[in-house]
Amino acid sequence: MDGFIHSTESFGAADGPGIRFVVFMQGCKMRCKFCHNPDTWDLSAGKRMSAEQLFHLAVRYRDFWGEKGGITISGGEPMLQSEFLCEFLKLTKHHNIHTAIDTSAQPFDPENKYILQMLDSCSLVLLDIKHIDSQKHIQLTGYDNKNILECARYLDKLKIPVYIRHVIIPGFENDQELIRLGKFIKSLSNVNKTELLPYHTMGRYKWEALGFQYPLKDIPSATQDDVEHAEKIISKLESL
Ligand code: SF4
Repeated sequence: MDGFIHSTESFGAADGPGIRFVVFMQGCKMRCKFCHNPDTWDLSAGKRMSAEQLFHLAVRYRDFWGEKGGITISGGEPMLQSEFLCEFLKLTKHHNIHTAIDTSAQPFDPENKYILQMLDSCSLVLLDIKHIDSQKHIQLTGYDNKNILECARYLDKLKIPVYIRHVIIPGFENDQELIRLGKFIKSLSNVNKTELLPYHTMGRYKWEALGFQYPLKDIPSATQDDVEHAEKIISKLESL
């Protein structure tokens, strides 16, 4: 079967360890107000490629990956194309290539064999937790966080290594909510790293180019202080 690919980046340094070939998949049902890739939302858009074609495109860069690097599948939401990605991950596994899946996990379903197989076949999951409070998660993304937290527990049960990623948006999260997030992360035994990412307004031009109104136009980018404040709260809990 073919996958729908939005784009690729040959030398990614921000999505997993080392230098990585990053694949941005088409399709996402969430509508995060800070999304900087709204052009990936449409599942039927993008370039059609077979798993073999995508694999051959990626491995041309293998010499640059060294010990740590590899391939990251991002998006959009990779879980929406899990059957295709199972085929792709069979190839990467066979060639002993480190793979990371960057997912918001909203489509996670413990009965979906392709999603489970996709998660079991990768080396690392970069799991985005948009907000620990379900109501605020709905405000921010249009969906609650039930499947996402369930996915985190599933990955813990299977001891699949995880980086938790969380965007700090000024004024959208109080200290109590950061404590709840820190406690949740601490309850998991497979988290290798927690990455707190500052919200930035760089996606705004894409929303406007697509004819959408940017919903966070009055919110400034997060400062270093905002991120350090959140880091202090979360790392204190993690080290307890
Ligand atoms: S999950 Fe990712 S791609 Fe989907 S809307 Fe949110 S930020 Fe955008």
